[in-house]
Formats: sequence, C-alpha cells, structure tokens
Amino acid sequence: MNYKEESVLIESDISHELDTLFKPKSIAIIGASSKELSIGNVIIKNLVHYGYTGKIYPINPKEPSIRDIKAYQTIFDVPDDIDLAHIIIPSKFVPQIIEDCGKKGIKSVIINSAGFNEMGEEGIALQTAFLNKAKEYGIRVFGPNCQGIINTDPDYKAYCDFTFTFPEPGAISIVALSGGVGAFIMQSLFDLEIGMRYYASNGNACDISISEVLNYYGNDEATKAIILYTEGFHDPGEFMKVAKVVARKKPILAMKSGRTAEGAKAAASHTGSLAGVDIATELIFEKTGILSFTNEEEMCQAAKAFSTQPIPKGNRVGIITNTGGPAVIATDELVHAGMQIPALSEKAIQTLQQTLLPEASIGNPVDVVATGGGIHFRSALDVMMNEEQIDSVFINFVTAPFTDTNEVARSIVEVNQQHKKPIVCNFMTNLSLERFQETAKILKDGGVPCYSFPTTAAKALGALYRYHLVQNRHIGEPKHFNDIDKVKADSILNNVKSTGEFLSSEQVYTLLSAYGIPIADWRLAHSMADVVKAAKEIGYPVVVKVESKSLVHKSDLGGVAINLKNDNEVLYAVEKMKEDFIEEDLRFLVQKFLPGGKELVIGVSAQKDLEPLVMFGMGGIYIEVLKDVVFKLSPVTRVEANEMLSSIKAAKLLDGARGEAALDKHSVIEMILRISQLVNDFPQIKEMDLNPVMAFEDGAFAVDARIKI
Ligand code: ADP
Ligand code: MG
Repeated sequence: MNYKEESVLIESDISHELDTLFKPKSIAIIGASSKELSIGNVIIKNLVHYGYTGKIYPINPKEPSIRDIKAYQTIFDVPDDIDLAHIIIPSKFVPQIIEDCGKKGIKSVIINSAGFNEMGEEGIALQTAFLNKAKEYGIRVFGPNCQGIINTDPDYKAYCDFTFTFPEPGAISIVALSGGVGAFIMQSLFDLEIGMRYYASNGNACDISISEVLNYYGNDEATKAIILYTEGFHDPGEFMKVAKVVARKKPILAMKSGRTAEGAKAAASHTGSLAGVDIATELIFEKTGILSFTNEEEMCQAAKAFSTQPIPKGNRVGIITNTGGPAVIATDELVHAGMQIPALSEKAIQTLQQTLLPEASIGNPVDVVATGGGIHFRSALDVMMNEEQIDSVFINFVTAPFTDTNEVARSIVEVNQQHKKPIVCNFMTNLSLERFQETAKILKDGGVPCYSFPTTAAKALGALYRYHLVQNRHIGEPKHFNDIDKVKADSILNNVKSTGEFLSSEQVYTLLSAYGIPIADWRLAHSMADVVKAAKEIGYPVVVKVESKSLVHKSDLGGVAINLKNDNEVLYAVEKMKEDFIEEDLRFLVQKFLPGGKELVIGVSAQKDLEPLVMFGMGGIYIEVLKDVVFKLSPVTRVEANEMLSSIKAAKLLDGARGEAALDKHSVIEMILRISQLVNDFPQIKEMDLNPVMAFEDGAFAVDARIKI
C-alpha cells in the first residue's frame, strides 16, 4: 500500500456516519402493523422485549397505537427528531417515503421490504429512484431486502431486526450479507454462551456495504473480533483496502463457501479452471489477513477464544492436564496447527517438583493428576505463565469427583484474569450434576473459554495462533522492474485485434522477452531449409514443434520432437510433422533443447472485478493430473512468491531431493514477479501459461507458453 492510500484510509477511519444506524436514539417503524405475525409488528415487539433504551415511533395511517405504543399517521406527526427508520412498506412507495424521511431529517433507514434489484427492471427502477432521493437528502440506506442490525450495548439495546435470538452483550460483531447465515451464526454464539456486540445483515446492500460495516466495527473499541460472511463482493478492491486495515487491528473470522465437488471437478486444462470456483475469495482473505474457516462451527468456537483471550506471541504451548489421554489428542491437533510443545526449563521443573503431588508427571504436558486440587493447578499455571518459552496454555480439566473442582476453577480464573497468555480449556464434566454446573459457571464468568472436545479446544487455540501469524506477516511491496520494454509489449498486444484469441508463438516469446523473462533460444521457420538453418544457428541439440493458431496441446498430437542432434534428425522430424499436420498456417518452432531441468508452471488467470491470479507449481504435461499448484492475487510481492515456492506439495524437490542439486529459486521468483508485473500492466491478458518453465541449478527458462487476450 502506498502512502497516499494509507492516508485516505486513516481519514475514512474516523467516520461516524453509521452511528445513527447502530446507535439510534429514536426509531420510526414505517409500516408498523398490529398484525402479530407481520414484520412491522415483530420489530416493535423485539425492540421492546430486548429493552431498547430509545424512543419507538410506530407509523401507521389508521391505528392509534400498536403494541400499546402511541402510533403516528406520518413521520411528520412525530414531535421529536428520528435517528433511524425501518421501512416495511410495498416497494413502489419507498422512493416517496425516502423523500419524506429526508424532509424529516432522518439520517439512516433500514429497508426491510423486498421488490427491488432482485425483481428485474421495475425493481431496479425503484431502487435507483429511492437511492437518488437518499443521496439528495444525505440518508444512508441499509438493505433493502434485509434483516437489519442489532446493538447489544446496554446503553442502546437496539434490536432492529425481526429475528428471534436475543444475544447477551459481548465482544464479537457479526456482518453477513445473507440473513440466514447471519442468523444461525448469531444463534450459535448464543448457544455457545458467547456474547455479541453488533449484528448486521444487509441483504441487497445497495448503499451501506459490507466494507463500510467492517470499517465501523474496526473502529469500535468494544468489538474484539469480527465474524464475516459473504458470498461475493460488490467492490473487491474497496473491500480489500478496508479489510487490510481492520485485520491489523483485530481478528476477522470469515467463512469461505462454495467449495463443492463440482468446483473441484471443474479443474481442467488451464490456469483459470485449475483455480477452481472460490479460489479468489480465499486469496482475498489471505492477502488481507482475514482468518478463513471452512467449517462454521469451528469458526464460532474460535470466536469464543477470541472474545476473551489475548493473542499468543508465538507457537509454543504449555499443556496442563489432570488426565492423560485427552492431552495426547490435543497435542496432535496443536502440532497439526503449526504449534510446538517445548520442554520446560530446569527452574520450572524444580518448582513443579516442589509443589505438585508426588505422583504428578512433570514435563510438558504436565499431569497434575486427578487428585490434584486448586493449588496444584495454580502452581502449574503460574509456571507456564512465567516460562519464557511458553506462549499459550492448553488446560485439560476433568472434574474428578474427589477434588474441590470449584477451587480448581477459581485458580484457573485467577490466572486467566491476569491476561498474560491465552488459555483454552477442554472441560470434561457432567453438567446435569448441580455441583459441576457451579464449576462450569465459575469458569464461564471468569472468561475461560471452555470446550467439550480436546480437538475443538486445540483448534480454537490454533486460530489464536493464526492471528498471531497474520499480525506478523508483512508481505512487502511488489517489486517494480525497470529493465522492461513496455512500449514493445504494448505494440504487440495492440496488434491483436479480436479478443478471446491466442497470441502466436512469435508474439508470445517477443512479449515475454520484452519483460525480461528468460526463454529457450528460438526461431520460427517455414520451409525445411529454414528449419535446418535455424537449428544450426541455435546449435544442436534442438527441439522442433509444430506452430499453428489451432494447435494447443502439441505434444499430444506428435507435434513436439525433442533432442534432435543433427540436420538429419531435424529433417526427419519435420517431414513426419508435415505428413501428420494439415493446418494451412503450419510453421515450425525451432528451439534450444534444454535437458535435465525440473518442469515448473507459471500461469495467470484474469478475474472479473479483481486483479489477476498468478499460479505457480509443478508443470509439464502431467499438470492436470498432479494439480500441485498454488495461487496468489497479483501484484505478487517477493515474500508471496517465496511462499508460493515453499507451499506446493513438491516444495522439497525444489531444494534438491536425494542428492540432486537445488534449483535456482531466485530465478523462478524473479520470473513470477515479472509475470505479475506484466499482467498488471496489461489487463487485457486473460490467460497465460508458461508450461513448462525448465528450472536448473543456475537459471530457469520458459520453453512453452500460451497467452490469450
Ligand atoms: P505442449 O504443452 O503443447 O504439449 P511443450 O512445448 O510444452 O508442448 O512440450 C511438451 C514437453 O516437451 C514439455 O513438457 C517438455 O518435457 C518437453 N520439451 C519441450 N520443449 C523443450 C525444450 N526446449 N527442452 C527440453 N524439453 C522440452
Ligand atoms: Mg506445454
């Protein structure tokens, strides 16, 4: 991000525009109804039930009161100012009502009504009409076709929604386009006894966007973590800008949906489809530092830890248990999440030997044994908190019937409230027994995130650690190469008239050369004599390939002859190709034969409304079978290019396996960066495959490439 962008964001940071939406002091319900089961009734019921602290003004032309609250015929009859209006009337009346709201000085509206952009031409016209009015009067619109917002702050208790979950105040804020998903996440947090701060589900999101809500949450001190659910982005560029800034301040947990078997099957012959269906969303999350989840329950369980715990300073976990097995299960999951269970220091071991029961097992994990009580847990906890090589603590606590479990719980809570290092607890108990209910309550009230499976608890701790990585990941700026010939590249690309077309090999290789991408020496030839002349110039051994606009996978058709060592071999190969290929524009590409390299692939696929994706992986003719490729959203930085090389499955092969020499990774990374710059300079490039790139100990060269514009 450059300096200018950053300053713009800092300015937008201090916006209070959404205050009348999230912190309304008075709310009008336009379309209030006395019908029990109507939205215009339920919203009033919810506001009252939840204890809304402001004034409620039902608007209804006929009824004198609704749910025992005085109603007004129009908003103009309301004697006071109104901050927020719910609009629950047929869509065709909405433009007029927005104008009225403007005249009344209302600053925010939630349009629950449907019947706009989702309904075809007539709806689109209505939406445009009300948006114009809103703009004229400076009204911010939430929705339409949406649920609304909830603010659990005891000062407001604004339940501007028709859902049925009444959350406890807390530190997690939710933003979801889909009301259905938003509602079940809210319900899950409630069931898991996790407090919520704000809720927002904005349906069509015609004005106030997900990005804007995200920014608002980012600036809300009481929001410790954000849960985000979206199926797409209206403006991915804007979203990325905001998400980057907010994710630095607090964790954003997001669901990635659309991971279907069909999506995987769609992976076919080129970069675009190898990317699958939702790779772009995943890459947006990665680039901005959003924690992506593929399981909604795991995400909610992680939110539980985020809502009370600090972020660990590293990946080293201390495990305290009073029963063996579950700690083993947890260890597996923790290690899987990239964490370590280091040995304890000499000093720590001595302390534990002096304070724990003789039968305790001292080390990491430390087993205080089932007969261990509050003081033993406390001692182990203190040791972990003071250990320099421990960053977080995993507790496995079974409520053994022969210990004072409340005492144990109180010890855990006391240490937890020091907020020195994050703690998660796998709590094994029987909650139908009153005695243990009390223990559970002590832990809950003390802000200890408790789980009923060791793996779940370990995954939650893993999520805290993932956020530590996000906070410490600095991808840097994309490198800008100056030794390129942009004018030449421009003239090549502007010569290609029709879109959807592949460039000729000549154009491809000239273009790549203009951007400093090394390619195997090549010549194009027509006649037999030309081919032999070209081969001599390049120097044997050479490769000969058929060249025609209509030929894509040349080697499948016998159109690639490699390792040709002399004139005769070249002539023989060309004669054979002339027999097999009848293309009118048939020519021959003569190329230097580069034996013994590793075959890699670098590719590009353009995205709608988004920067192109860059792909890297193991290449060659088996690419579709191996599918060992990774993607990044361009522009790719050096740090990201490095990550690409180290994150493919065959990463170790690049470093040289079984006595082989390591590849020249630097050259490969340079190539990725140059390709990234090329596609960012020329957005008309829709697809590009350098397959294979032959990589050696000292250098890497493209030997086959396709570009589609
Ligand atoms: P296509 O992808 O159209 O089938 P390629 O030009 O990629 O054709 O060639 C297919 C395979 O031939 C490559 O994967 C590589 O193994 C080999 N090959 C092609 N060109 C060269 C070259 N210049 N040096 C060494 N091997 C090559
Ligand atoms: Mg190829």
